[in-house]
Amino acid sequence: MSDYDRDNIFAKILRGEAPCVKVYEDDDTFAFMDIMPQAEGHVLVIPKTEACDMMDLNEEMTQKLIVTVQKIARAVKSAIGCPGVMLTQLNGAAAGQTVFHTHVHIIPRYDGVDLGIHATDMVDPSELEKLAQKIRMKI
Ligand code: 5GP
Repeated sequence: MSDYDRDNIFAKILRGEAPCVKVYEDDDTFAFMDIMPQAEGHVLVIPKTEACDMMDLNEEMTQKLIVTVQKIARAVKSAIGCPGVMLTQLNGAAAGQTVFHTHVHIIPRYDGVDLGIHATDMVDPSELEKLAQKIRMKI
């Protein structure tokens, strides 16, 4: 894409130039723990293609992305033991998107518990790693 910034943080994570706590990877998709989770067990799933948002993805990659999202959402639900799982996906700054490599949020939810604030409080990677281990075991 002409407006895709190859130096966005998720592009760097995909190239191994920035750290992340990885949950899952296949030929086309990559999943990792959100560093500023809105709930314990918040995972991000991204395609391994240069796409700012969902509108930039072709049909094949869209299918591959959603199949991975379902796989990881099942693992998150089982590992975290949450009764609900919210999938969110923001397109464009006006929609609240802050990282311009398309991604889907997988966020555990509980009755009566408000959603944490978006991209605010950073969590120690060692804590994320403990959660990632649990999630990986359920994939
Ligand atoms: P968006 O606002 O674009 O929908 O979501 C971007 C998400 O990426 C936010 O939830 C934010 O916490 C997360 N995020 C931002 N920078 C990093 C980072 O360097 N590493 C990880 N793992 N997540 C990040």
